[in-house]
Amino acid sequence: MKRRRKLFKLLVFAAIPIAFLLVYLAVRSIRTVGSKGVNIDQVPVPELSSDEINQLRKYDNSYHLAIAQSKGLPEPFAGNIKETSLVIQNYGLVRIDDNKYYELPLLTSSLPFLQPDAAEFLDILGKRFEDRLNQQGIIAYRFSVTSVLRTEESQKDLRKSNVNATNNNSSHYYGRTFDIAQTRFFERGNPEPVYTYRLRNILLRELIEMQNEGLCYVLLESQTKCIHVTVR
Ligand SMILES: [Zn+2]
Repeated sequence: MKRRRKLFKLLVFAAIPIAFLLVYLAVRSIRTVGSKGVNIDQVPVPELSSDEINQLRKYDNSYHLAIAQSKGLPEPFAGNIKETSLVIQNYGLVRIDDNKYYELPLLTSSLPFLQPDAAEFLDILGKRFEDRLNQQGIIAYRFSVTSVLRTEESQKDLRKSNVNATNNNSSHYYGRTFDIAQTRFFERGNPEPVYTYRLRNILLRELIEMQNEGLCYVLLESQTKCIHVTVR
């Protein structure tokens, strides 16, 4: 009888910390799902429809160039990147940098400068992308901006390696165009890239909406794996 009571006491003592641990884990998991959402791997995202793909190919380079030339810099910077970064401040461009919405890797063939309203557009896109993820219960991810302002000299280098870097008529000369990597994303607060078409499709759907609102032109480039965007 005594032994049984002892055993019972022991069980009670063991049960208390286990119960606390279970309650703690349950609360933590609710909090994680509630405020942050789930990983992109856990959410199925529909493929792009042919109508969506058509919308992403509808405005070719001539549209991008026309708006870039009418609203952007009066003419391309001719010199190399180093010289150009010295004179750039005279042209009202703003420097863009990594923030909570996007990542800017070390740019080799372009400079991280945009006209102020184009830089603002990038943040608005970032916020809208975040909201869209949030609505679907997905944690925040940042996209990658891979090319921004080019100079004539940088475009020459790029042409050697990239068939999509068009001759002398790139909209990237004018401070209103940037490229986003199609499938490279970053979970917020994590430096390891995440490669996925799911996030690309969610981002592209937001861009189609912004294009329909008359805010930008979007071109899905298949050869460079880039999304080419010009702010209107
Ligand atoms: Zn581009």
